[in-house]
Amino acid sequence: MEFELWYLLFIPVLFGAGWFARSFDIKEKKSIADETQTLYKGLDLLLSNKQDQAIDSFVRLTKIDPDTVELHFSLGGLFRRRGEFDRAIRIHNHLRNREDLSKKIRARALYELGTDYLAAGIWDRAEKAFQELSEVKSEYKIAAQKALINIYETEKEWQKAIDEANLLEKQTGEKFGPRIAQHYCELTALAFRGKDYKGAVAFLEKALEEDPQNKRALMMKGQMLHARGDIEGAIAAWKQVGQVSPAYETLVVEPIANALIEVFRKEDAVKYLEGICERYNNNDELDIASALLSKIDDPERAIKILQTSLKTKPSLIGFQRLVQLRLETDPDNEQLKQLNALLKAQLNRVARYTCSKCGFATRKFLWHCPGCHQWETFPPIRNENLAH
Ligand SMILES: [Zn+2]
Repeated sequence: MEFELWYLLFIPVLFGAGWFARSFDIKEKKSIADETQTLYKGLDLLLSNKQDQAIDSFVRLTKIDPDTVELHFSLGGLFRRRGEFDRAIRIHNHLRNREDLSKKIRARALYELGTDYLAAGIWDRAEKAFQELSEVKSEYKIAAQKALINIYETEKEWQKAIDEANLLEKQTGEKFGPRIAQHYCELTALAFRGKDYKGAVAFLEKALEEDPQNKRALMMKGQMLHARGDIEGAIAAWKQVGQVSPAYETLVVEPIANALIEVFRKEDAVKYLEGICERYNNNDELDIASALLSKIDDPERAIKILQTSLKTKPSLIGFQRLVQLRLETDPDNEQLKQLNALLKAQLNRVARYTCSKCGFATRKFLWHCPGCHQWETFPPIRNENLAH
């Protein structure tokens, strides 16, 4: 009997414990139900095209588990791709500031935030975000450093780009030589324009140290030697460009021919240009060489050479040049005038240098693509893309 009474004393205690556990369980369940409801409400708002309210709803989620983290990132990425940068920034900023989230998730959020700022063209904030990431160890460190190089290139902060690329080369072993050479070429051009010849020479030497076969640096070497009065040296440097890459000879045909004439080597200039017209690599090379040949030599001979070349490889660029040269020998020919104007307009419309990586098309030859931010992706040849 005593035992039974003693046992009965436990009934209210067990009841109390059960009640406590139940209330705790109910609280927990209620909280999960609330979170789920908020999530569904957010999704519903998103599907109803009420993006701002949807973001508010997602941001209100007090508990972010791995599934909702992915949802937040997907949503942020989606807004960025749609060009809705302020919405993408709000979501990633929210994840970034949640101190209850892991370091890994917050680093990812910061990387996404930097990418949002970059896409929105807010360079200073993008730079700050990537700089913060580049200073600590995380799986986004290298990607952030690469993004920083892109930013410095866009902002024309060439020395900063060089420093970051050197750092990355040391850390990863990845080769950045040709890219760093392009940065030094930019610095060379700046110094040269500012008449700081000593500085220009020093930068150019560094460019060639980084990449001895850099076509742009060799072209600049020719320019500098020419400016110093070393014409033969300049011709040798420019000729090296074609030896390194035949297609790039297009860019040096004119300076080589002009320099030969300058040092009274007209015969050599004619021979050089005739050689180009016979073995030309592309239409632009033929165009430039035949125009120069007509100017310094017999125009009729230049026309004849051009005509022969066009028979085997007809092109709009070559044909326009042929009409132009004919017009120069017969300036009052109205029909030729009209035809030349028509061809010129058509050429202006279709002839473009095109990036081999992203397809960005431009009238002017560029070393750096504004579309994909890569270097030397434009072949120095204009396309006659009639689909433009
Ligand atoms: Zn490109």
